Amino acid sequence: MNEYEVAIIGGGPAGLTAGLYASRYGLNAVLIERGMYGGQIVNAGHVENYPGFPQGISGIDLGQMFYEQSLRFGLQTITADVTSFTKVDKLFNISTDDIKISARAVIIASGSNYRKLDVPGENKLTGAGVSYCATCDGFLFRNKDVAVIGGGDTAISDAMELSQHCNKVYVIHRRHELRATQALQRIAFSIPKIEFIWDSVVLSIEGEDKVTGLNIKNIQTGDVSSLAVAGVFIAIGFIPNSGLFKSIVDINEAGNIVTDDLMRTSTPGLFAAGDIRRNSARQVATAVGDGATAGKSVFAYIKES
Ligand SMILES: Cc1cc2nc3c(=O)[nH]c(=O)nc-3n(C[C@H](O)[C@H](O)[C@H](O)COP(=O)(O)OP(=O)(O)OC[C@H]3O[C@@H](n4cnc5c(N)ncnc54)[C@H](O)[C@@H]3O)c2cc1C
Repeated sequence: MNEYEVAIIGGGPAGLTAGLYASRYGLNAVLIERGMYGGQIVNAGHVENYPGFPQGISGIDLGQMFYEQSLRFGLQTITADVTSFTKVDKLFNISTDDIKISARAVIIASGSNYRKLDVPGENKLTGAGVSYCATCDGFLFRNKDVAVIGGGDTAISDAMELSQHCNKVYVIHRRHELRATQALQRIAFSIPKIEFIWDSVVLSIEGEDKVTGLNIKNIQTGDVSSLAVAGVFIAIGFIPNSGLFKSIVDINEAGNIVTDDLMRTSTPGLFAAGDIRRNSARQVATAVGDGATAGKSVFAYIKES
């Protein structure tokens, strides 16, 4: 079994930044990624809100640049799916199908996935009018009609944000009342551009190369109708990749790992960074900031322990 000072699980913006910092501090660090280095951002066509790129940059190029820079100071990488994670005395043990490693400290940067609607058209039109992030893509729908699916805080915040750019924002919710906090509801109900479509579910997302509309069904009356929109923002929740860590660290109801400002979890030597942690803004800029903080904190921990 190989032993490292620090292991990082996840090679998205948070993990790669944590790896850059940890290895630049001279720590013997390894990062394990099961998919593409760069994480979720490689799926973004054009990223316009990550500072340093005034004209924006493609998600795949940004992910690749994060990866290349992370290797400069000796970070080792392993491409594999972490399938088991345990703590024995002061050491963390990490297994994949083929290898086992141990580490004195671990940074969890495993991100989360957007919950999908699972309707026809969703996969085909993702990036062509289907989005899961109003902050990322809302600006692309200036003066257009869009729909937000969901009724929680994220959906209502998204609708409010989209109302700044868009002509009309429909909020489609399967119940007759929202789950969002009262304060958010009050503001949303007062914005004339936001229209609520209650008791309704999306049956399909229409369009060949880009979204042209939705088929929706009123679950009280059974009526099916179509709604012309250029964009649909799906805001029905996230699935954090935290299942492996549940028995070792504090996790909130939504499945996100609880940390303090220094990215320390409830378990000494275990840190979390990026979208996986509670209250993350789920942006590249914030994931990178978390990764830098985690890298600094892990250095302090190794020095002191
Ligand atoms: C289509 C799209 C467009 C976006 N556009 C923007 C934008 O314009 N601007 C912006 O700021 N943000 C955008 N985002 C959000 C941004 O991508 C995320 O906030 C950011 O990538 C989070 O970084 P992270 O490192 O915390 O997690 P992630 O990027 O999710 O990386 C986590 C990594 O961990 C790996 N992993 C998980 N579990 C394991 C395991 N068991 N073993 C090994 N590896 C594991 C995953 O494969 C993944 O690569 C967009 C997201 C998407 C999907």
